[in-house]
Amino acid sequence: MRRLRLFVLTVVVGSQVIAAESRAAGPDFDRFFTAKALRIDLYHTGDAKEETYSLDEARVEPYWAGNPRNLLDTLNLGSCILRVFDVGTNMMIYSRGYSTLFDEWKTTEEAIAGFPRTFHESLMIPLPKAPVQVRIDTRDRRNVYKTVYDLVVDPADYHVSTERRFADVRVRQLFDGGPSSNKVDVVVLGDGYDQNEMHKLRGDAERLLGALFDTEPFKSRKRDFNVRLIETASSESGVDEPREGKYRNSMFGLSFNTFDISRYMLTFSTKVLQDIVGNVPCDAVILIANTKRYGGGGIYNLYSAGCSNNEFDAYVFIHEFAHAFAGLGDEYYSSQVAYNDLYPKGMEPWEPNITALLDTAKVKWGDLIPEGTPVPTPDDSSHAGAVGAFEGAGYSAKGLYRPCRDCIMFSKRTVPFCPVCRRAIERMIDCYTK
Ligand SMILES: [Zn+2]
Repeated sequence: MRRLRLFVLTVVVGSQVIAAESRAAGPDFDRFFTAKALRIDLYHTGDAKEETYSLDEARVEPYWAGNPRNLLDTLNLGSCILRVFDVGTNMMIYSRGYSTLFDEWKTTEEAIAGFPRTFHESLMIPLPKAPVQVRIDTRDRRNVYKTVYDLVVDPADYHVSTERRFADVRVRQLFDGGPSSNKVDVVVLGDGYDQNEMHKLRGDAERLLGALFDTEPFKSRKRDFNVRLIETASSESGVDEPREGKYRNSMFGLSFNTFDISRYMLTFSTKVLQDIVGNVPCDAVILIANTKRYGGGGIYNLYSAGCSNNEFDAYVFIHEFAHAFAGLGDEYYSSQVAYNDLYPKGMEPWEPNITALLDTAKVKWGDLIPEGTPVPTPDDSSHAGAVGAFEGAGYSAKGLYRPCRDCIMFSKRTVPFCPVCRRAIERMIDCYTK
């Protein structure tokens, strides 16, 4: 029962929140935080209609790799936003948009039928010096945030664990751009590589990272990145393919057929993932699966995953990383997906590269559309390569629009990012580096 006393649940009313936000321009990192991280692990349970959170544990991790000059998230991407308030001053001192496995799950047939599931989630914030209120808001069907969870944590509480897990992992620094407070810290992990396949993991990682950093804007901004490979061996080689009846005991539990989509390969074992990446500075996680089969996935601010021995593996690696790192949406509309009504009619998607075009005079990438370009833009050769608003995006042939005829978020090929996607990626790199 002691634990319940120490983690006091509270609910904040809207008016208090607005007051806190208006005062919170550029919180001073050193006033509120130390250089380590506070990790809060939660279980997130529910179906399409209802969701609840429960606390798993709170821990101190050795590294917080974010940008101390940029504590408040102004990009407004993701299905959720985490906000942190200093209890003593009621100031908002940290915020971060992100997406979750749960938010994809809740649009599936099973969730709509009322079958609940549980997902593990970790929140990482810089380690506060004093008690903080941690609040999660999620977007509703009208794209309006509603508060779904509140927790007060005192970092001095002796129930906040300081033990290190997997502290003996082998880390190989592949690029060293400089201090993690000025860089995007990427952590690459292999899944389904056994003891004898560590050399293969190194080779796959170097080849796929080579393809990523050969692609703009990553190519010009390579100095803004640190890349570390954590070499963990799996007990068995390969990853799960449930439809084939193939199950492998791999370190991170990647599996095809996520949400019953053949090529969708994700893992729900995010606790062990976080336990391992917590040993190095980490802003973005990339999982490489030791599999020839085509597939992958990427969740904004969680991780990206892709195959390693397939003719499309470089495309998957770059495309999925763009989902996870920059919150880009899929611009294609021809493939089978698990979601029902992922983008409700009449709502503007939060993804920076998809629009519902609710107002043709105010396209969110309108400053990149040359004057005289018709909006919507006809999908013909006279507009090849131009920025406009082309119908067909976000798994829907009608009612959603993409910026260009082609982009790596549209075609299943290593074509360049369109100018809108390129700018969204650059803005995200700036958040970590400027
Ligand atoms: Zn694009």
